[in-house]
Amino acid sequence: MIRAALLSAVLLAGTVQAATLIHAGRLIDGVSTAPRTRQTVVVEAGKIVAIEPGFRTPAAGDRLIDLSQGTLLPGFFDMHVHISSEYSKNSEIEDYKLNEADVAIDSVVYAQRTLLAGFTTVRDLGDEYRASIALRNAINAGKVPGPRIVAAGKAIATTGGHADPTNGWARKFPADPGPDDGVINSVEDARKAVRQRYKEGSDTIKITATGGVLSIASSGSNPQMTEEEIRAVVTTARDYGFKVAAHAHGTEGIKRAVRAGVDTIEHGTFLDEEGMKLMKEHGTFYVPTLSAGRWVYDQAQDPDFFPAIVRPKALQVGPQIQNTFAKAYKAGVKILYGTDTGVGKHGDNAREFKLMVEGGMPAMEAIRVATSMPAKFLGLDDSTGSIAVGKLGELVGVPGDPLADISVMQRVVFVMKDDTIYKAP
Ligand SMILES: [Zn+2]
Repeated sequence: MIRAALLSAVLLAGTVQAATLIHAGRLIDGVSTAPRTRQTVVVEAGKIVAIEPGFRTPAAGDRLIDLSQGTLLPGFFDMHVHISSEYSKNSEIEDYKLNEADVAIDSVVYAQRTLLAGFTTVRDLGDEYRASIALRNAINAGKVPGPRIVAAGKAIATTGGHADPTNGWARKFPADPGPDDGVINSVEDARKAVRQRYKEGSDTIKITATGGVLSIASSGSNPQMTEEEIRAVVTTARDYGFKVAAHAHGTEGIKRAVRAGVDTIEHGTFLDEEGMKLMKEHGTFYVPTLSAGRWVYDQAQDPDFFPAIVRPKALQVGPQIQNTFAKAYKAGVKILYGTDTGVGKHGDNAREFKLMVEGGMPAMEAIRVATSMPAKFLGLDDSTGSIAVGKLGELVGVPGDPLADISVMQRVVFVMKDDTIYKAP
Protein backbone atom coordinates (compact mmCIF):
# COMPACT_ATOMS: atom_id res chain seq x y z
CA MET A 1 0.00 0.00 0.00
CA ILE A 2 2.72 2.43 1.06
CA ARG A 3 4.71 1.59 -2.04
CA ALA A 4 1.66 2.25 -4.28
CA ALA A 5 1.02 5.58 -2.55
CA LEU A 6 4.64 6.60 -3.04
CA LEU A 7 4.52 5.61 -6.67
CA SER A 8 1.41 7.69 -7.34
CA ALA A 9 3.01 10.65 -5.54
CA VAL A 10 6.00 10.38 -7.85
CA LEU A 11 3.74 10.17 -10.91
CA LEU A 12 1.78 13.17 -9.67
CA ALA A 13 4.98 15.14 -9.17
CA GLY A 14 5.87 14.25 -12.76
CA THR A 15 2.62 15.61 -14.15
CA VAL A 16 2.78 18.94 -12.32
CA GLN A 17 6.41 19.57 -13.25
CA ALA A 18 6.85 23.26 -14.07
CA ALA A 19 7.13 24.39 -17.66
CA THR A 20 9.67 26.95 -18.84
CA LEU A 21 8.15 29.78 -20.89
CA ILE A 22 10.48 31.88 -22.99
CA HIS A 23 9.15 35.20 -24.26
CA ALA A 24 11.17 35.80 -27.42
CA GLY A 25 11.09 39.26 -28.97
CA ARG A 26 12.51 37.59 -32.08
CA LEU A 27 12.76 33.88 -32.87
CA ILE A 28 15.21 32.46 -35.40
CA ASP A 29 14.45 28.75 -35.69
CA GLY A 30 17.61 27.67 -37.56
CA VAL A 31 15.72 26.55 -40.68
CA SER A 32 13.42 29.37 -41.85
CA THR A 33 14.78 32.22 -43.95
CA ALA A 34 12.93 34.88 -41.91
CA PRO A 35 12.62 35.46 -38.14
CA ARG A 36 9.29 35.52 -36.27
CA THR A 37 8.53 38.24 -33.71
CA ARG A 38 6.88 38.08 -30.25
CA GLN A 39 6.72 34.31 -29.69
CA THR A 40 6.41 32.14 -26.60
CA VAL A 41 8.40 28.90 -26.62
CA VAL A 42 7.35 26.35 -23.98
CA VAL A 43 9.80 23.70 -22.73
CA GLU A 44 8.72 20.79 -20.54
CA ALA A 45 10.96 17.97 -19.33
CA GLY A 46 13.69 19.12 -21.70
CA LYS A 47 11.54 19.19 -24.85
CA ILE A 48 9.86 21.98 -26.80
CA VAL A 49 6.11 21.35 -26.41
CA ALA A 50 4.65 24.55 -27.88
CA ILE A 51 5.55 27.63 -29.94
CA GLU A 52 2.83 30.28 -29.83
CA PRO A 53 2.47 33.80 -31.20
CA GLY A 54 2.33 36.45 -28.46
CA PHE A 55 3.57 36.31 -24.88
CA ARG A 56 1.67 33.63 -22.91
CA THR A 57 1.13 34.43 -19.20
CA PRO A 58 2.93 31.84 -17.07
CA ALA A 59 0.86 29.58 -14.78
CA ALA A 60 1.76 29.17 -11.09
CA GLY A 61 5.11 27.37 -10.81
CA ASP A 62 6.21 28.04 -14.41
CA ARG A 63 9.64 29.52 -15.02
CA LEU A 64 9.56 32.63 -17.21
CA ILE A 65 12.53 33.78 -19.28
CA ASP A 66 12.04 37.34 -20.47
CA LEU A 67 13.87 37.63 -23.77
CA SER A 68 11.33 40.10 -25.14
CA GLN A 69 14.12 42.54 -26.09
CA GLY A 70 16.32 39.84 -27.60
CA THR A 71 16.46 36.91 -30.01
CA LEU A 72 15.99 33.21 -29.28
CA LEU A 73 18.01 30.72 -31.36
CA PRO A 74 18.71 26.98 -31.36
CA GLY A 75 21.86 25.96 -29.47
CA PHE A 76 24.93 26.50 -31.66
CA PHE A 77 27.19 23.78 -33.12
CA ASP A 78 30.96 24.16 -33.39
CA MET A 79 32.23 21.49 -35.78
CA HIS A 80 35.92 21.93 -34.92
CA VAL A 81 37.17 22.31 -31.37
CA HIS A 82 39.90 20.86 -29.18
CA ILE A 83 38.06 21.00 -25.89
CA SER A 84 40.79 19.48 -23.73
CA SER A 85 43.51 22.02 -24.53
CA GLU A 86 44.11 25.72 -25.10
CA TYR A 87 47.18 26.98 -26.94
CA SER A 88 49.34 29.52 -25.16
CA LYS A 89 52.85 30.91 -25.14
CA ASN A 90 53.74 28.05 -22.75
CA SER A 91 52.23 25.23 -24.79
CA GLU A 92 55.49 23.77 -26.04
CA ILE A 93 56.94 23.39 -22.53
CA GLU A 94 53.60 22.35 -20.99
CA ASP A 95 53.56 19.38 -23.36
CA TYR A 96 56.37 17.94 -21.21
CA LYS A 97 54.83 18.90 -17.86
CA LEU A 98 51.11 18.13 -17.98
CA ASN A 99 49.79 14.78 -16.78
CA GLU A 100 46.50 13.19 -17.77
CA ALA A 101 44.73 14.56 -14.71
CA ASP A 102 45.80 18.14 -15.53
CA VAL A 103 44.34 17.80 -19.01
CA ALA A 104 41.14 16.21 -17.66
CA ILE A 105 40.53 19.04 -15.17
CA ASP A 106 41.23 21.72 -17.80
CA SER A 107 38.78 20.08 -20.18
CA VAL A 108 35.94 20.35 -17.63
CA VAL A 109 36.59 24.09 -17.32
CA TYR A 110 36.69 24.56 -21.11
CA ALA A 111 33.47 22.56 -21.57
CA GLN A 112 31.59 24.87 -19.22
CA ARG A 113 32.91 27.99 -20.98
CA THR A 114 31.84 26.53 -24.33
CA LEU A 115 28.32 25.82 -23.12
CA LEU A 116 27.93 29.29 -21.57
CA ALA A 117 28.92 30.80 -24.94
CA GLY A 118 25.83 29.15 -26.44
CA PHE A 119 27.43 26.06 -27.99
CA THR A 120 25.35 23.03 -27.04
CA THR A 121 27.07 20.60 -29.47
CA VAL A 122 30.72 20.42 -30.51
CA ARG A 123 32.78 18.08 -32.65
CA ASP A 124 36.15 17.53 -30.98
CA LEU A 125 38.80 16.90 -33.62
CA GLY A 126 41.77 15.75 -31.61
CA ASP A 127 42.79 15.28 -28.01
CA GLU A 128 45.39 13.59 -25.85
CA TYR A 129 44.77 10.83 -23.30
CA ARG A 130 41.24 10.25 -24.72
CA ALA A 131 40.19 13.25 -22.61
CA SER A 132 37.37 14.30 -24.97
CA ILE A 133 35.85 10.82 -24.75
CA ALA A 134 35.91 10.78 -20.93
CA LEU A 135 34.50 14.31 -20.92
CA ARG A 136 31.74 13.35 -23.39
CA ASN A 137 30.73 10.46 -21.15
CA ALA A 138 30.73 12.63 -18.00
CA ILE A 139 28.58 15.30 -19.70
CA ASN A 140 26.15 12.67 -21.04
CA ALA A 141 25.87 11.22 -17.54
CA GLY A 142 25.05 14.65 -16.10
CA LYS A 143 28.19 14.71 -13.93
CA VAL A 144 29.56 17.97 -15.32
CA PRO A 145 27.98 20.72 -17.45
CA GLY A 146 29.04 21.02 -21.07
CA PRO A 147 28.02 20.66 -24.69
CA ARG A 148 27.16 17.37 -26.37
CA ILE A 149 30.51 16.16 -27.71
CA VAL A 150 31.07 14.22 -30.93
CA ALA A 151 34.62 13.04 -30.29
CA ALA A 152 37.38 11.96 -32.66
CA GLY A 153 39.76 11.04 -29.84
CA LYS A 154 43.35 10.98 -31.05
CA ALA A 155 43.83 12.54 -34.50
CA ILE A 156 45.59 10.35 -37.06
CA ALA A 157 48.82 11.59 -38.71
CA THR A 158 51.99 10.19 -40.30
CA THR A 159 55.50 10.27 -38.78
CA GLY A 160 56.51 13.90 -38.24
CA GLY A 161 53.04 14.92 -39.41
CA HIS A 162 50.78 17.55 -37.90
CA ALA A 163 49.31 15.23 -35.24
CA ASP A 164 52.44 13.19 -34.45
CA PRO A 165 52.48 13.76 -30.66
CA THR A 166 56.28 13.58 -30.47
CA ASN A 167 57.34 16.30 -32.93
CA GLY A 168 60.25 18.36 -31.63
CA TRP A 169 61.24 15.86 -28.94
CA ALA A 170 64.90 15.23 -28.20
CA ARG A 171 66.25 11.80 -29.18
CA LYS A 172 66.52 10.80 -25.51
CA PHE A 173 62.72 10.57 -25.34
CA PRO A 174 61.20 7.47 -26.98
CA ALA A 175 59.49 8.88 -30.04
CA ASP A 176 58.37 6.40 -32.66
CA PRO A 177 54.62 6.22 -32.09
CA GLY A 178 52.38 3.88 -34.11
CA PRO A 179 48.68 3.48 -34.92
CA ASP A 180 47.80 3.17 -31.22
CA ASP A 181 49.01 6.78 -30.75
CA GLY A 182 47.48 7.88 -34.05
CA VAL A 183 50.59 7.66 -36.24
CA ILE A 184 50.41 5.62 -39.46
CA ASN A 185 52.82 4.92 -42.30
CA SER A 186 50.97 2.45 -44.49
CA VAL A 187 47.54 1.30 -45.57
CA GLU A 188 47.67 -1.42 -42.88
CA ASP A 189 48.53 1.15 -40.21
CA ALA A 190 45.66 3.33 -41.42
CA ARG A 191 43.15 0.52 -40.93
CA LYS A 192 44.57 -0.30 -37.50
CA ALA A 193 44.46 3.33 -36.35
CA VAL A 194 40.77 3.62 -37.26
CA ARG A 195 39.96 0.35 -35.49
CA GLN A 196 41.90 1.54 -32.44
CA ARG A 197 39.74 4.69 -32.32
CA TYR A 198 36.64 2.45 -32.48
CA LYS A 199 38.00 0.41 -29.59
CA GLU A 200 38.56 3.59 -27.56
CA GLY A 201 35.02 4.86 -28.10
CA SER A 202 35.53 7.61 -30.70
CA ASP A 203 32.46 8.87 -32.58
CA THR A 204 34.27 10.11 -35.67
CA ILE A 205 37.72 10.09 -37.30
CA LYS A 206 40.14 12.99 -37.80
CA ILE A 207 43.21 12.86 -40.03
CA THR A 208 45.90 15.43 -40.75
CA ALA A 209 46.35 15.24 -44.53
CA THR A 210 48.86 18.12 -44.67
CA GLY A 211 51.19 20.06 -42.42
CA GLY A 212 49.74 22.48 -39.90
CA VAL A 213 50.53 25.82 -38.34
CA LEU A 214 51.17 24.96 -34.70
CA SER A 215 53.17 21.72 -35.02
CA ILE A 216 56.95 21.82 -34.64
CA ALA A 217 57.69 21.25 -38.34
CA SER A 218 58.79 23.46 -41.19
CA SER A 219 55.84 23.21 -43.58
CA GLY A 220 52.25 24.14 -42.83
CA SER A 221 50.91 22.83 -46.10
CA ASN A 222 52.87 19.85 -47.51
CA PRO A 223 50.92 16.66 -48.26
CA GLN A 224 51.58 14.19 -45.41
CA MET A 225 49.51 11.17 -46.40
CA THR A 226 49.28 9.25 -49.64
CA GLU A 227 45.88 9.07 -51.30
CA GLU A 228 45.93 5.29 -50.67
CA GLU A 229 46.44 5.86 -46.93
CA ILE A 230 43.56 8.32 -46.80
CA ARG A 231 41.34 5.97 -48.80
CA ALA A 232 42.18 3.16 -46.35
CA VAL A 233 41.16 5.42 -43.45
CA VAL A 234 37.87 6.31 -45.17
CA THR A 235 36.88 2.78 -46.23
CA THR A 236 37.68 1.39 -42.79
CA ALA A 237 35.84 4.26 -41.11
CA ARG A 238 32.71 3.43 -43.12
CA ASP A 239 32.70 -0.13 -41.69
CA TYR A 240 32.24 1.44 -38.25
CA GLY A 241 29.79 4.18 -39.24
CA PHE A 242 32.40 6.92 -38.82
CA LYS A 243 32.61 10.10 -40.85
CA VAL A 244 36.12 11.42 -41.60
CA ALA A 245 37.35 14.98 -41.08
CA ALA A 246 40.59 15.98 -42.82
CA HIS A 247 42.81 18.79 -41.62
CA ALA A 248 44.27 20.16 -44.87
CA HIS A 249 45.92 23.50 -45.73
CA GLY A 250 47.83 22.71 -48.94
CA THR A 251 46.21 22.32 -52.35
CA GLU A 252 47.56 18.84 -53.13
CA GLY A 253 46.63 17.37 -49.73
CA ILE A 254 43.12 18.84 -49.97
CA LYS A 255 42.56 17.20 -53.37
CA ARG A 256 43.89 13.81 -52.25
CA ALA A 257 41.55 13.89 -49.23
CA VAL A 258 38.51 14.88 -51.31
CA ARG A 259 39.18 12.23 -53.96
CA ALA A 260 39.66 9.62 -51.20
CA GLY A 261 36.18 10.44 -49.90
CA VAL A 262 36.56 12.39 -46.64
CA ASP A 263 33.43 14.17 -45.39
CA THR A 264 34.89 17.52 -44.33
CA ILE A 265 37.95 19.60 -45.19
CA GLU A 266 39.17 21.58 -42.17
CA HIS A 267 40.87 24.98 -42.79
CA GLY A 268 41.30 24.44 -46.57
CA THR A 269 43.66 27.41 -46.66
CA PHE A 270 45.13 26.98 -50.14
CA LEU A 271 41.99 25.52 -51.71
CA ASP A 272 42.02 26.44 -55.42
CA GLU A 273 39.27 26.47 -58.05
CA GLU A 274 39.87 22.87 -59.06
CA GLY A 275 39.67 21.86 -55.40
CA MET A 276 36.36 23.69 -54.98
CA LYS A 277 34.99 21.94 -58.06
CA LEU A 278 36.10 18.57 -56.67
CA MET A 279 34.46 19.31 -53.30
CA LYS A 280 31.17 20.17 -55.02
CA GLU A 281 31.33 16.97 -57.11
CA HIS A 282 31.99 14.83 -54.03
CA GLY A 283 29.61 16.73 -51.71
CA THR A 284 32.50 17.46 -49.33
CA PHE A 285 31.81 20.08 -46.66
CA TYR A 286 34.22 22.91 -45.88
CA VAL A 287 34.87 23.90 -42.23
CA PRO A 288 36.89 27.11 -42.60
CA THR A 289 37.98 27.89 -38.98
CA LEU A 290 38.44 31.60 -39.70
CA SER A 291 38.79 32.30 -35.97
CA ALA A 292 41.91 30.16 -35.71
CA GLY A 293 43.45 31.82 -38.77
CA ARG A 294 42.82 35.25 -37.30
CA TRP A 295 44.03 34.24 -33.84
CA VAL A 296 47.38 32.80 -34.95
CA TYR A 297 47.97 35.83 -37.18
CA ASP A 298 47.26 38.22 -34.28
CA GLN A 299 49.54 36.32 -31.86
CA ALA A 300 52.34 36.19 -34.46
CA GLN A 301 52.61 40.00 -34.28
CA ASP A 302 54.50 39.31 -31.00
CA PRO A 303 57.83 37.88 -32.25
CA ASP A 304 58.24 35.81 -29.05
CA PHE A 305 54.79 34.25 -28.82
CA PHE A 306 55.32 31.19 -31.07
CA PRO A 307 58.36 28.92 -31.43
CA ALA A 308 60.54 30.29 -34.26
CA ILE A 309 59.55 27.49 -36.65
CA VAL A 310 55.82 28.23 -36.18
CA ARG A 311 55.71 32.04 -36.57
CA PRO A 312 56.16 32.30 -40.37
CA LYS A 313 53.40 29.74 -40.89
CA ALA A 314 51.03 31.70 -38.61
CA LEU A 315 51.70 34.93 -40.51
CA GLN A 316 51.03 33.29 -43.87
CA VAL A 317 47.98 31.13 -43.11
CA GLY A 318 45.91 33.59 -41.07
CA PRO A 319 44.91 36.10 -43.75
CA GLN A 320 44.74 33.46 -46.49
CA ILE A 321 41.91 31.43 -44.86
CA GLN A 322 39.59 34.46 -44.88
CA ASN A 323 40.20 34.99 -48.64
CA THR A 324 39.65 31.32 -49.39
CA PHE A 325 36.41 31.26 -47.40
CA ALA A 326 35.03 34.22 -49.37
CA LYS A 327 35.84 32.49 -52.68
CA ALA A 328 34.55 29.07 -51.61
CA TYR A 329 31.28 30.53 -50.36
CA LYS A 330 30.74 32.36 -53.65
CA ALA A 331 31.60 29.21 -55.59
CA GLY A 332 28.84 27.30 -53.75
CA VAL A 333 30.97 24.93 -51.64
CA LYS A 334 28.90 23.56 -48.72
CA ILE A 335 30.06 25.13 -45.46
CA LEU A 336 29.73 24.16 -41.79
CA TYR A 337 30.56 26.36 -38.80
CA GLY A 338 33.83 25.46 -37.05
CA THR A 339 36.42 27.46 -35.17
CA ASP A 340 39.35 25.21 -34.14
CA THR A 341 38.90 26.63 -30.63
CA GLY A 342 41.69 25.42 -28.40
CA VAL A 343 43.61 27.49 -30.88
CA GLY A 344 42.15 30.65 -29.35
CA LYS A 345 40.24 30.78 -26.07
CA HIS A 346 37.37 28.47 -25.19
CA GLY A 347 34.22 30.57 -24.88
CA ASP A 348 35.18 32.80 -27.83
CA ASN A 349 33.63 30.32 -30.31
CA ALA A 350 30.96 32.82 -31.50
CA ARG A 351 33.56 35.13 -33.05
CA GLU A 352 33.38 32.99 -36.18
CA PHE A 353 29.88 34.36 -36.95
CA LYS A 354 31.28 37.86 -37.37
CA LEU A 355 34.20 36.64 -39.51
CA MET A 356 31.85 34.66 -41.77
CA VAL A 357 29.62 37.70 -42.28
CA GLU A 358 32.73 39.79 -43.03
CA GLY A 359 33.63 37.11 -45.61
CA GLY A 360 30.35 37.66 -47.44
CA MET A 361 27.95 35.13 -45.90
CA PRO A 362 24.55 36.60 -44.88
CA ALA A 363 23.91 36.46 -41.11
CA MET A 364 20.91 34.15 -41.46
CA GLU A 365 22.96 31.67 -43.44
CA ALA A 366 25.82 31.84 -40.93
CA ILE A 367 23.23 30.90 -38.27
CA ARG A 368 21.93 27.97 -40.33
CA VAL A 369 25.45 26.58 -40.91
CA ALA A 370 25.89 26.67 -37.12
CA THR A 371 22.53 25.02 -36.25
CA SER A 372 20.31 22.94 -38.56
CA MET A 373 22.98 22.08 -41.13
CA PRO A 374 25.57 20.57 -38.76
CA ALA A 375 22.72 18.79 -36.91
CA LYS A 376 21.79 17.13 -40.19
CA PHE A 377 25.43 16.34 -41.01
CA LEU A 378 25.86 14.64 -37.64
CA GLY A 379 22.53 12.79 -37.85
CA LEU A 380 21.19 14.68 -34.83
CA ASP A 381 18.48 16.65 -36.65
CA ASP A 382 15.63 14.51 -35.25
CA SER A 383 16.29 15.97 -31.82
CA THR A 384 18.24 19.20 -32.16
CA GLY A 385 19.58 21.94 -34.48
CA SER A 386 16.33 23.90 -34.80
CA ILE A 387 13.47 25.31 -32.73
CA ALA A 388 10.42 23.14 -33.40
CA VAL A 389 7.83 21.28 -31.34
CA GLY A 390 9.21 17.88 -30.32
CA LYS A 391 12.88 18.95 -30.46
CA LEU A 392 15.07 19.17 -27.36
CA GLY A 393 15.00 22.47 -25.51
CA GLU A 394 18.58 23.37 -26.46
CA LEU A 395 18.11 27.11 -26.69
CA VAL A 396 20.23 30.24 -26.70
CA GLY A 397 19.30 33.90 -26.27
CA VAL A 398 21.21 36.95 -27.46
CA PRO A 399 20.42 40.62 -26.90
CA GLY A 400 19.10 42.63 -29.86
CA ASP A 401 18.97 41.38 -33.44
CA PRO A 402 21.83 39.28 -34.88
CA LEU A 403 20.55 39.92 -38.41
CA ALA A 404 21.25 43.65 -37.87
CA ASP A 405 24.42 43.20 -35.80
CA ILE A 406 26.01 39.74 -35.88
CA SER A 407 28.39 40.63 -33.02
CA VAL A 408 25.53 40.10 -30.51
CA MET A 409 26.18 36.35 -31.00
CA GLN A 410 29.26 36.95 -28.82
CA ARG A 411 27.09 38.27 -25.96
CA VAL A 412 24.91 35.26 -25.14
CA VAL A 413 22.51 35.98 -22.24
CA PHE A 414 20.50 32.74 -22.06
CA VAL A 415 21.51 29.07 -22.36
CA MET A 416 19.25 26.07 -21.77
CA LYS A 417 20.13 22.40 -22.20
CA ASP A 418 18.87 19.17 -20.57
CA ASP A 419 15.99 21.16 -18.96
CA THR A 420 18.60 23.16 -17.04
CA ILE A 421 19.02 26.93 -17.37
CA TYR A 422 22.78 27.59 -17.31
CA LYS A 423 22.53 31.30 -18.03
CA ALA A 424 19.48 33.57 -17.66
CA PRO A 425 18.90 37.20 -18.70
ZN1 LIG B 1 42.15 21.63 -35.11
